[in-house]
Order: sequence, then structure tokens, then C-alpha cells
Amino acid sequence: MQQIACHECDLVHTVPKMAVGTSARCVRCGSVLFSIKAQSIDRTLAWTIAGLVLYGVAVSFPFLTMKSGAIMQQTALLSGMQQLFLQGEIVLATLVLLTCVLIPLLQMLILLYVFLPLKLNIRAIYAIPTFRLFQHFRPWSMIEIYMLGILVAIVKLAKIATIVPGLAVGAFGLLVIVLTCAISSIDTHLIWQRLGSD
Ligand SMILES: [Zn+2]
Repeated sequence: MQQIACHECDLVHTVPKMAVGTSARCVRCGSVLFSIKAQSIDRTLAWTIAGLVLYGVAVSFPFLTMKSGAIMQQTALLSGMQQLFLQGEIVLATLVLLTCVLIPLLQMLILLYVFLPLKLNIRAIYAIPTFRLFQHFRPWSMIEIYMLGILVAIVKLAKIATIVPGLAVGAFGLLVIVLTCAISSIDTHLIWQRLGSD
């Protein structure tokens, strides 16, 4: 048995031990108190590691091939952003850099930092503030933001030259899916319980 307060209406509940795959709802307002997800730590870790591999491919392989007359130029994600920057698209370049390069990397590194030690039954020193920071940034991890950033960047670059998507575009698309899976595998309730148990 454990005490848990509803994060919507603050009603305190006494919750018995629950089975995997079930979720507890508030009796007053009906919002979900928490869900018990199967093998949450393993699954989150597996998706995160897959995500880091895809990220490596997405930033290092050609993102676009630009054709302008007889000139063919391959552009990786970062040099494409540099192009945008040089075209005077400073806001867009910064936005794409944040949403497509920095935030996904930061999210995956945080997940690795918090979840890998938990898997090994140890606790990273700054796990609690780090995971709190992650929860804070969670609304920023929406698939739409990434896709929009990439789409706008492609449209802008298409004005400069004919573009052919490269291997990195596919890797990036997969990364978006894998990151969504990683984040949806997180059992927040379990993580706070594990982080606070010793
Ligand atoms: Zn409630």
C-alpha cells in the first residue's frame, strides 16, 4: 500500500500493489495517477541506445544532395544549417539546431544517464535533478516540432538548389519514431520510486 496525491486535484489515495499493464485513476477527477508499464527500464534503455545509433547516422551521413547546374554538393545536417545561417535565416537555423540537433541529443543522454545506472541497480549522483529537468523538457519533445523544423529547412534549401534527400533523412525519420517510443516507455512513477528508495 502507498499514499499518492492526484496531481490534478490533490486528492490523496491509498493505492494497493498493482499488476503490470494496469493504471490507477483518481476517484474524484478521473485523471491517471500512474500506470505500471512492463519492463519499462529495459525498454526505455533499448530505445535510447537505438536512438543514439540513428542520431549518429543522421548527423554524419549526407542529409541532402544539392544540384545547381553541373555542381553537385552533398550536405550533412550541420553544414545544411550553416548554409541556412549564411543565407541570413538565423532564427530558422537556430530553431532547427535546437529542435533537431541539441534537444534530441540532450534527451537521449539524460535517459542514458538516469536509466543505465538504474538498470545496474546503482544511482547516478545527479539522477534526481537530471530526471526532473527531463520531465520539464518533455513537452518540447513533440514529433511535430522536429518534422516542422526539417520540412521548413528543406523548403528553404530547395530555393537555393534542387535537392535529393540522403540517407540521413531516413535515419532522422526513424529517430523521431524511436525517441517517441523511448519516451512513451518511461514509467515515471516507477522511476521516482526507484530514485527515492534509498
Ligand atoms: Zn483528481
